[in-house]
Amino acid sequence: MPRRFGPYGGAYVPETLVPALTELERAWRDARSDPKFRSELRRLSTTLGGRPTPLYLAENLTRRGGGARIWLKREDLVHGGAHKFNNALGQGLLARRMGKPRLIAETGAGQHGVATAMIGAALGLSTEVYMGEVDMERQHPNVERMRLLGARVIPVRTGSRTLKDAINAALRDWIASVRTTHYLIGSAVGPHPFPSIVADFQSVIGREIRRQSARSFGRSPDLVVACVGGGSNAIGTFRPLLRTKADLWGVEAGGPRNSAHGAASLSHGAPGILHGSLSYVLQDDDGQVAETQSVSAGLDYPGVGPEHAMLRDSGRVRYLAVRDRDALRAFHWLAEDEGILPALEPAHAVFAAVREAKRRGRGREIVVTLSGRGDKDLEVVLRAGAQ
Ligand SMILES: *Cc1c(COP(=O)(O)O)cnc(C)c1O
Repeated sequence: MPRRFGPYGGAYVPETLVPALTELERAWRDARSDPKFRSELRRLSTTLGGRPTPLYLAENLTRRGGGARIWLKREDLVHGGAHKFNNALGQGLLARRMGKPRLIAETGAGQHGVATAMIGAALGLSTEVYMGEVDMERQHPNVERMRLLGARVIPVRTGSRTLKDAINAALRDWIASVRTTHYLIGSAVGPHPFPSIVADFQSVIGREIRRQSARSFGRSPDLVVACVGGGSNAIGTFRPLLRTKADLWGVEAGGPRNSAHGAASLSHGAPGILHGSLSYVLQDDDGQVAETQSVSAGLDYPGVGPEHAMLRDSGRVRYLAVRDRDALRAFHWLAEDEGILPALEPAHAVFAAVREAKRRGRGREIVVTLSGRGDKDLEVVLRAGAQ
């Protein structure tokens, strides 16, 4: 397991956390070569999670694009309505294996908190989720969901009372509780070994795409598109396809029309250290982390996983930004053409794919990872429509 991806990654953390990260890396190494762990992961991915998810040929959306065929990898059908389950389940099983009875997590929009609470309940682990007070108010339904699932939601009242303050609070908790507690990080970010572990648990997406593409059209896709927040659904999609001929595109949030950088760290950021690793970060000239803006809460993060930073520099993956307005357009296309309400995060990727389909032309195959369903975004979509 690499500690670095080129120059990126690493573990920029207080010394007190190093033993916990070492223990986690060792447990993960043991687990991945243990057939019992792998079969339990497979069993629960199937019977609790609903895997494998289908690869769906979106014929009406293809007609709209007017060229290459567009296929959707249906992670919106995973238990809980998004790919976040894949990682929460894997890390939950890892926590149980390490003999840690307690999970902590931090959440901004609440989606990762809900996924962690779901897994905590299913595996019998007590779960506490840190959430900024401002976010608790904005995302009240998810606070109620977490509570119904048996988790305790801990309000964070420091700083701007949002995600970054919740991350600091969770890290402080972990430093004091590492013996009994696993910190379940929700994306392919944070100090080593988290980016590698999360990518590994999400790689089931790309492995299934490889297999299903071969079955559906006899080869690997010409283009594969996924949205990038912290980068977990995208790295899980890309990793198993890196050695195929497929073009790989990661789509970041371009934000509203007047926004200089939205939340597009790879398109507009520069290398810096955030939350324990070196990667691209949206920052000002002094290195202060910049405010981000996006219509989709799941992409609204100033950093990105370190493996994406390497893939950007090497040119193997192309990263682009799609604006709020275009993501909203793609939301409506998918709703009206295919009867699917997508989350606003993957709607960014759908827009890029539909626009590219014509340029590629007939006979080409495009796969888009539909990372989640859109029920959570209805209010935002309706409000935008009324403007
Ligand atoms: C959280 C979320 C994302 C962004 O997270 P990544 O780690 O970049 O995958 C994307 N799509 C959906 C549906 C989400 O809930």
